[in-house]
Amino acid sequence: MAASGHAVVVGASLGGLLAARALAETYAQVTLLDRDKLPAGPAPRRGVPQGRQVHVLLARGRQILEELFPGLGAELYRQGATPVDLHGQVHWYNDGHRMRSARSDLTGFGMSRPLLEHAVRDRVTALPGVRVLPECEVTGLTATPDQSRVTGVRLAPATGRPDELRADLVVDAAGRGSRSPVWLAELGYPAAPQEQVEVGVTYVTRRYRREDGQLDGMLGVLANAMPGRPRYGVVAPQEGGRFAVTMAGILGEQPPTDDEGFARFAASLTAPQVGELVRHAEPLDDPVLMRFPASVRRRYERLPRFPAGYLVFADALCSLNPVYGQGITVAALQTLLLRRLLARDRDRLARRFFPRAARLIDAPWSIAVGADLRFPGVRGRRTPAVRLVNAYLARLHAAASNDAVLGAAFLRVLNLIDPPARLLGPDVLLRVLAGRRQRPSASSMAR
Ligand SMILES: Cc1cc2nc3c(=O)[nH]c(=O)nc-3n(C[C@H](O)[C@H](O)[C@H](O)COP(=O)(O)OP(=O)(O)OC[C@H]3O[C@@H](n4cnc5c(N)ncnc54)[C@H](O)[C@@H]3O)c2cc1C
Repeated sequence: MAASGHAVVVGASLGGLLAARALAETYAQVTLLDRDKLPAGPAPRRGVPQGRQVHVLLARGRQILEELFPGLGAELYRQGATPVDLHGQVHWYNDGHRMRSARSDLTGFGMSRPLLEHAVRDRVTALPGVRVLPECEVTGLTATPDQSRVTGVRLAPATGRPDELRADLVVDAAGRGSRSPVWLAELGYPAAPQEQVEVGVTYVTRRYRREDGQLDGMLGVLANAMPGRPRYGVVAPQEGGRFAVTMAGILGEQPPTDDEGFARFAASLTAPQVGELVRHAEPLDDPVLMRFPASVRRRYERLPRFPAGYLVFADALCSLNPVYGQGITVAALQTLLLRRLLARDRDRLARRFFPRAARLIDAPWSIAVGADLRFPGVRGRRTPAVRLVNAYLARLHAAASNDAVLGAAFLRVLNLIDPPARLLGPDVLLRVLAGRRQRPSASSMAR
């Protein structure tokens, strides 16, 4: 099928870039619009404030990015990213238990988010027919007189530019602040049902010079929060010879941004390595704070009517509590879906995309929301299944301090490689039950 037509993508961050990658296979012209001035190199920018916080790219996300952009991993490595064995080279603490480590094929990259976005943007802009227009803010949609089809976007006034852009397809990838609910209402469409789970996360990140031998030769630390201690800590290598330390609290728990408070919070985490690192390492900048109020999922698949020629994508469709590191990988999964659907035809695209996207979002949503519901302060429905799974996972984490097979099974689910139901399979279940009868050995505690 020869490429034809024009697709417009609102937002040129990772979601928009990935959408453009899929669209470029069937649309002759793809235009990405972003209200930001886009930096020439890997640098944080205003429209993506989370870019200053540590981003973990899950193993499934890394696999998909490599499939979409062959050689991307090697390019990131050349630019200073560190490949990390997510089971073998990361100290994991879940529910206070240190996971027994083992070599694995779960590979991630230690790198800043701006580096990843920059490398992906380079690849996408090199595709035939793709262009990026920075400093171009979309303010609404244009449509046919009967409003049944979106025909393009309206742009904020700027000299030397038209105030409308026509398109055969418009994709909203403008992030969690997406204006789709407002734009669709202007065209007479009802609001999509929305699910929201308030978590009140506060992130603080600081970067440090990376010395040889730091962290015991390991490459990362991940201390997960647990009921009674709603605090997280992540240490990850980044390009440019540095480490970043991100600490987070939920439900009003907030890492301080002054030196002393930051060090005290680090020392309070279940992973002693974070406090040690913060005490001894040389900071390269001041801590940067960002808040994330709630996970939000917009259920466009449940709307009885939706205009042709329009899609909502990535964080604009579902924005997940970032402590589980899923956003980019979920956008990557949607990209494979969009690519598959477009390879067949363009008919009834929204009708085909939204229900399938909802099904692929179900797993990461249930992982994030299920884990958040362990905290009594998080409001939501605690079904018997959610309670049971959380009690079971607490036992799994205890047993995984001795049994690396359990750690591997858990990390494959967390990295969106295996479905959550995999953890309830008989082989895993039996090991969890067997683990209850063993006390962690002294050597496994010290490891
Ligand atoms: C604190 C924090 C930490 C995170 N950590 C992780 C992590 O560890 N791992 C992970 O996978 N994900 C993480 N995420 C999520 C991840 O950042 C997103 O999933 C990812 O950036 C894809 O989002 P997006 O492209 O849909 O939206 P965004 O990245 O938010 O980008 C939206 C883009 O749209 C542009 N825009 C907005 N409105 C308009 C408009 N009207 N006109 C034109 N342009 C517009 C903006 O300038 C911006 O470029 C984290 C998020 C947060 C908040």
